[in-house]
Order: sequence, then C-alpha cells, then structure tokens
Amino acid sequence: MTEIVPPNERVCERCGRKDRWDDTAQKWVVVEEDGEPQHGVPHCLHEWDINGAYNPLKE
Ligand SMILES: [Zn+2]
Repeated sequence: MTEIVPPNERVCERCGRKDRWDDTAQKWVVVEEDGEPQHGVPHCLHEWDINGAYNPLKE
C-alpha cells in the first residue's frame, strides 16, 4: 500500500529555523520549542532539508 505523505515539517540547514505545515491556514508556520519560536536568522536564505531529495511517495 502506498500513501502520499506531504512534508509537514522542514528545517533550515543553515540557521536551524523550523517550520511546520498548518493544514488549516495552508501555510508554513514557525515551530515553537519551550515557548521560543524557532525563527533562525532573519536574513538567512533558508536551505530547507526537504529540498531535492523529498519524495512524496512513502511505502
Ligand atoms: Zn535559514
């Protein structure tokens, strides 16, 4: 059985910013850890860990 699993979380490999996908809002929102939003560096050209290698089909 194959199901489509969209990425629901992404992490910047440069500054450590963390986002999660909000299904309701249909946009990425910053993850909070210990009450601190994981914004990373404001002017970072984010390099998301889901780029390129992401495969929507998961067995
Ligand atoms: Zn970044």
